[in-house]
Amino acid sequence: MLSQQGIQVQVLEGEDKLDNQPRACHYSAPACFELARAKVLEKIKAEGFFPGSVCWRKKDGSRIVGLSNTDTPEDSPYRMVCLPLGRVIEIISEELLKQGTSELLMGHKVIGLGQTNSLAWVNVLTSSGDSQKLEADYIVGCDGANSQIRRSLFGDWEFPGWTWDKQIVASNVYYDFEKFGYEDANFIVHPKDWYMAAKITRDGMWRVTYGDVPDLTREQYLERLPMRFKEMLPGQPEPIDFKLVNIGPYKMHQRIAKSLRSRRFLLAGDAAHLCNPFGGLGLTGGIADVGGLYDSLVGIHRGQADDSILDKYSEVRRERYQNFVDPISTENFRRLWSEDPEKIIETDEFFMLARRMAIDKEFSQEFQLGAMALQHDFTQYYKVADGERNGIKEKTVTAK
Ligand SMILES: Cc1cc2nc3c(=O)[nH]c(=O)nc-3n(C[C@H](O)[C@H](O)[C@H](O)COP(=O)(O)OP(=O)(O)OC[C@H]3O[C@@H](n4cnc5c(N)ncnc54)[C@H](O)[C@@H]3O)c2cc1C
Repeated sequence: MLSQQGIQVQVLEGEDKLDNQPRACHYSAPACFELARAKVLEKIKAEGFFPGSVCWRKKDGSRIVGLSNTDTPEDSPYRMVCLPLGRVIEIISEELLKQGTSELLMGHKVIGLGQTNSLAWVNVLTSSGDSQKLEADYIVGCDGANSQIRRSLFGDWEFPGWTWDKQIVASNVYYDFEKFGYEDANFIVHPKDWYMAAKITRDGMWRVTYGDVPDLTREQYLERLPMRFKEMLPGQPEPIDFKLVNIGPYKMHQRIAKSLRSRRFLLAGDAAHLCNPFGGLGLTGGIADVGGLYDSLVGIHRGQADDSILDKYSEVRRERYQNFVDPISTENFRRLWSEDPEKIIETDEFFMLARRMAIDKEFSQEFQLGAMALQHDFTQYYKVADGERNGIKEKTVTAK
């Protein structure tokens, strides 16, 4: 987005290849809004698909409640779209490389940093073993959960929050869930055999994310997978009944950095905050960060904002995590296993709202657009009025 505005951007990626582990697939309204501004949403929509509905079920397959996504039209920038992250990253990097003012440096691992009042730099180790020092006006650490930038700024063990004692395994698999009446996304509520099964590609690949015993190696989880699938999934499949593509075990955390700014360094995405993946708020929150940071940096570049807008960025994005991402993602996960499914059906506030949404289309639309609260318009802090935000939304801004 910055390079589309003619701003010089260097992207440093520590690995030689883009990441293709099974992770995010679903992008809801706030992410779609920014992906449209970055001019990549149409391509993501063309290769991905629009999940029709999401529902909650008991282990025997009986449906508790469901939400339809079809109330939002497909040409809206707010309609949830699904495409595995590995492909989304490729689409974004293809778009980045089209810009004359951008550079993508693979195999450039950040190992240290420094800054003065007028400049910031990172020390980099390349995959061919060279050391480099790269400078910029501002540097954004979006280097994931173990962010070297965050560690260098605030200390190795300074990432306030907590770690779930539950272990999850995310698997990509071909198995005919539709035969059992499963919808595009299904959350199974059960004290032990809770899981999520969601269709993630047009050709029928599914993501099954489930719980397992903690602290095993990837190979040990791979060995246990047929047993876990037989225990959990409809039809009690044998290995011959499904085709496994990939698995990734993950520890889950609810954490937020103490600040998303340290003078000329900013944090965004998993480097800034973590949540469990149930409900798809991790990357969506990260993309909402990036949209806000983009508006802030463009404002500074054009002289429409002074750099105190970056303090506002840190304040607002931390607040959105604390009041939205953290509590909602925590509830989304607990809802799957913490109570007797029979009891939770009667008492869970979200299930009650979902029942209302099933019969009230207007309320359903309103509720789903409520996710836009994750986003924040930083152009309102410009000193000078801005006409539009990249053609998506016209707005008149008053000085603040
Ligand atoms: C199973 C699972 C399912 C999920 N599903 C969803 C979903 O449907 N929707 C959703 O919104 N979220 C989802 N999430 C969360 C989402 O995947 C993450 O929030 C998101 O990938 C974080 O993106 P990021 O770019 O901030 O960090 P990362 O994806 O971790 O990327 C960081 C990048 O920085 C590079 N890097 C690391 N260190 C350095 C260094 N020192 N120097 C240079 N480069 C470095 C890494 O190689 C990597 O390419 C899911 C997560 C999991 C585990």
